[in-house]
Amino acid sequence: MKQARQTCTTYMEAFSYKNGSLYAEDVSLEALAGRHGTPAYVYSRAAIEAGWRAYADAFSGRDTLVCYSVKANGNLAILDLLARLGSGFDIVSGGELERVLVAGGDPGKVVFSGVGKRADEIRRALEVGIRCFNVESEAELLRINGIAGDMSARAPVSIRVNPDIDPDTHPYIATGLKENKFGVDAGQALDLYRLAGGLDNIAATGIDCHIGSQITSIGPYIDAVNKLLSLLERLEQTGITLSHIDIGGGLGISYGDEQAPDIAGFAGTVSDLVPERYGIILEPGRSIVGNAGVLLTRVEYLKSNNTRRFAVVDASMNDLLRPSLYRARHDIIPVSERGDGAAVDYDVVGPVCETGDFLGLQRRLSLAPDDLLAVLSCGAYGFSMSSNYNSRPRAVELLVDGEHEHVIRERETVEQLMAGERILGARG
Ligand SMILES: *Cc1c(COP(=O)(O)O)cnc(C)c1O
Repeated sequence: MKQARQTCTTYMEAFSYKNGSLYAEDVSLEALAGRHGTPAYVYSRAAIEAGWRAYADAFSGRDTLVCYSVKANGNLAILDLLARLGSGFDIVSGGELERVLVAGGDPGKVVFSGVGKRADEIRRALEVGIRCFNVESEAELLRINGIAGDMSARAPVSIRVNPDIDPDTHPYIATGLKENKFGVDAGQALDLYRLAGGLDNIAATGIDCHIGSQITSIGPYIDAVNKLLSLLERLEQTGITLSHIDIGGGLGISYGDEQAPDIAGFAGTVSDLVPERYGIILEPGRSIVGNAGVLLTRVEYLKSNNTRRFAVVDASMNDLLRPSLYRARHDIIPVSERGDGAAVDYDVVGPVCETGDFLGLQRRLSLAPDDLLAVLSCGAYGFSMSSNYNSRPRAVELLVDGEHEHVIRERETVEQLMAGERILGARG
């Protein structure tokens, strides 16, 4: 029987078996399912905090700002926990900015990424005083300058450079190749900094990149940092001096078989490369929360045909999209260990009407109806990518802290799903 220990090698053993029953810290998942129902996302406070501290500690000798990437998991309780540790935040929308503010995050530690920033989002970010706009095009730079001018403000910006590096990850989450929509190429970046120098309401403060996600080797980061550093050198030759280098997020985690890069080793390498006069900004998401959460689901039915056995569970692609979207593999383990004499291969599938709706294919499990399963490593891009497809209310989110449990997002109701909708009146 595969143990949950793999999920938490970088933190503590947040999810582990006690007397044959799976626990989140000191709370049994069986008991949680009984009290809150399924499907349920369950997070460990200790694991989240350990995930953030791994970065803060590894870079402690340097002027560093760790900006947690909100899109990995934007629950207010999680943002609050990280804000209390002193975290900054990497946002990609005005909605994420409002979340950070409500959770008590410091706007002065917010960096704003994304190719499509709207005028109202830029205005709001200037109003609250974010740390930096990570600018992805000339048109965006000019728009920010115009809005800052209207507000008699000066917008701090960095140019997002697309370093044309293959991070060897799934094509949908590789973002630093020249055919991707993100950032600008090195030559264009130099032009944009020159342009920025002549704009009254822009202050170029840094340079940034983000080359992709779930990257399991450090090589591509070294290449990216070196490219940014050579750009910084060329900029300095033309009299443009910046104060920070933002190397993005994207460090991978172990979902089972892969080896996650060691954060201390990563920090050492990056710190050696980047001269002391530059502050370092990081934007990790997945590597902070990914292994700090599981998706708890119950078996509704077992069925089989001539070729396959299916375990139909009550969670589906609307709760966890990654298997369907990226063919991502998440380990799936039983909440109650049983003698696995009867283990057979199941496709673990949800109720949604799509053949692509599966949580895992060909998993060796010993199952009976009503059994509980835990889908591991669901803390990042799990709930945040969930939808209401098939009019399925989104799952409850629970945070465990030692022996305490907190409902950090109530299970949605069908009424909430329909709340904004209107039928045409009798004369319609
Ligand atoms: C998504 C994203 C991140 C976080 O990536 P992870 O793989 O979760 O670490 C950081 N920066 C930017 C610009 C992003 O789009």
